[in-house]
Amino acid sequence: MKSQTLSGMMTRFKDEAACKAFLQERRWPNGVTCPRCNNPKVFALKSRPFHWVCKGKTCGKRNGYRFSVISKTIFENTNYPLKTWFQVIYLMLSSKKGISALQIQRLIGSGAYRTAWYMCHRIRAAMKDGGFTKLMGEVEVDETFIGGKWKNKHVSVRRKGEGSNGPHGKIAVIGAIARKGNVVAQIIEKVNAETLQGFVKQTVSENVSLVATDEHTGYKGLSKSGYPHQSVSHAKGEYVRGNVHTANLDSFWSLLKRGVVGTYHKVSKDYLPLYLAEFSYRHNNRKNANVFNDVIAEC
Ligand SMILES: [Zn+2]
Repeated sequence: MKSQTLSGMMTRFKDEAACKAFLQERRWPNGVTCPRCNNPKVFALKSRPFHWVCKGKTCGKRNGYRFSVISKTIFENTNYPLKTWFQVIYLMLSSKKGISALQIQRLIGSGAYRTAWYMCHRIRAAMKDGGFTKLMGEVEVDETFIGGKWKNKHVSVRRKGEGSNGPHGKIAVIGAIARKGNVVAQIIEKVNAETLQGFVKQTVSENVSLVATDEHTGYKGLSKSGYPHQSVSHAKGEYVRGNVHTANLDSFWSLLKRGVVGTYHKVSKDYLPLYLAEFSYRHNNRKNANVFNDVIAEC
């Protein structure tokens, strides 16, 4: 994102035709295909730019299936021009803490808060990292809790003690980060050995040079599984011992929490996976100069 500025982007996407041409190129780099049946033999409608018709045997009726550059994308069925969408995507990608639906609502002017909120969620779904590879090098693993304040919970929830799945009704999240590399984070139902080690086996290569955690007993057994595991004891006031620490993951958690609490105010368990994906995506693409193009291709 560093190579692109907002004003540069606004110049580039000066009108809808420029946006549509860009979307077409990102969506179909090898030529337009039918979004319904994948047929590459489609016909451009001369009277309507960025519209095509597919006459595939299984597609459409006698007149064929007509589609446009936005058919079956997140931009379909909204009243906002692509130019606005592109601006919102740009802002979501370039602001480290994320951007709230309220900020989007101000930006797009008219329209309900709910529309802005929906727009953000649609974009989040397009922030997908392609082909996952296990983390390598020096990896930090740790859990954290996000959301729900105890005092705000209904008394019936408080009486049950633990709330949904963590202390004070918070949501448990586990993460792994390769130093100078990628991060992976997901919600966990239980903070026990099976879950913690299962996550490590799923996301961290056995050929790493270090797996650094805190002293949580759930991580004991990683060495037996072949991981070069080292831990620091937070209980004993030990946070760093040489290269054994979880400082990179701590930074990621604090960014996520400031984003989720500060920008989005509240987050439910249903939507937290989308926020985790958004923050991970931004981190993992922090050096990707083409990240805007990549997201558009996934819309
Ligand atoms: Zn078709």
